[in-house]
Amino acid sequence: MSDDIDIKLKRWLLLLTNVIGSRAAGSQQDKQALLVMKNHFEKLGLETTIENFIFWAYVPRTWSLSVDNETIPCLPCVCSKSTDVSPVRGSVVDVGYGSLDELTDVKGKVILARIGRVHESFKAEAAVKKGAIGMLLFSEDDPDGIYTGRVTYPIGPLPSVCISKNDGLLISSLSKRRSAKAEITIGADTKRSVGRNLIAKLPGQATLTDESIMVTAHRDSRRFSPGANDNGSGCAVMMEMARLMVDKQRKRSIVFFSTDAEEYGCQGSSRFVQRHYPYLTRSCVGALNFDSVGQGKPHLVGRDREGALSSVLNKYCEIAGKKMGETIGHRDHPGGSDCDSFARTGINASWIRCWPSSSFNTTTDSFEKLDYDVMSRICKLGELILDRLASSSGKI
Ligand SMILES: [Zn+2]
Repeated sequence: MSDDIDIKLKRWLLLLTNVIGSRAAGSQQDKQALLVMKNHFEKLGLETTIENFIFWAYVPRTWSLSVDNETIPCLPCVCSKSTDVSPVRGSVVDVGYGSLDELTDVKGKVILARIGRVHESFKAEAAVKKGAIGMLLFSEDDPDGIYTGRVTYPIGPLPSVCISKNDGLLISSLSKRRSAKAEITIGADTKRSVGRNLIAKLPGQATLTDESIMVTAHRDSRRFSPGANDNGSGCAVMMEMARLMVDKQRKRSIVFFSTDAEEYGCQGSSRFVQRHYPYLTRSCVGALNFDSVGQGKPHLVGRDREGALSSVLNKYCEIAGKKMGETIGHRDHPGGSDCDSFARTGINASWIRCWPSSSFNTTTDSFEKLDYDVMSRICKLGELILDRLASSSGKI
């Protein structure tokens, strides 16, 4: 059975990342992925609905970086401020992870920061308050690719580009030996776009038909990333879970929710929660999020911001893990995901994610880097959790 799941997951991932490719919210590729998922759910006999919403997509036109007149390959951070008429020029200062106490002496300078500990949008916001004029960002985890960062939606506070790990370390050592001068150019537009949430419902029995468990996985990826782990993995797992669960009717309904524009700060899920607030607070007993489940070991994500995720729901996940002989770790994470939109309104929400993830949100987040065995186990784990949640009629 597990091999069978493995092969199916591989097929979904090949289709999403290699045939369709990077799926930036609102793009043609995002729409293609939507139709693939919609077809799959409908073939399983589930009723589907598409809910549109408007958001601002970030469309970069030109970008460049030079350090001491040497051109360095770079990518603009999603939502980066443009440099308008003239480039931003300044000395580079290495600020480590860019946490508050590391942002000393940044006035008039371009900060060089590693990703992690603090989300890049907070690094940029704090740095600009202290007078920084630009940001270079890199990931220490991926030796091959370039991280695709995202600053505050819809437009961040300062021009920000991402570079490779090697270039990041090189510029760091240059800046420590002598003054290294960076020049950043970014030209980009914000475009009014249509996001598409896809909802597929597996109805429960008549007695508890109004109560539901939501399963969320975002469909969109960052513009320059193939988006295999983030979040082709979650999409494939969600489609497989639906297939595994469709033949049995449980007390509660299970709602499979493919969100859009998560990479712009959970735009799709927060619009959905806003729109269905009365229904959700009355009837949604839990929301289980699958984001980046294709590399590393299963974890439940904690929060040092945004408020805690659900300890009740986490317990269900742990019990299911035990039953499978699967150890589930706990980890805080500075980044957000769709579970936050539910948790913010008081709905039980949890996030299953795998760590470590070397190519998370980078240009090398590709099909062949994923671990299809761990994804198969996540499918079985999700099935167990959802089955228990949907089969019981007790309070959760
Ligand atoms: Zn994600």
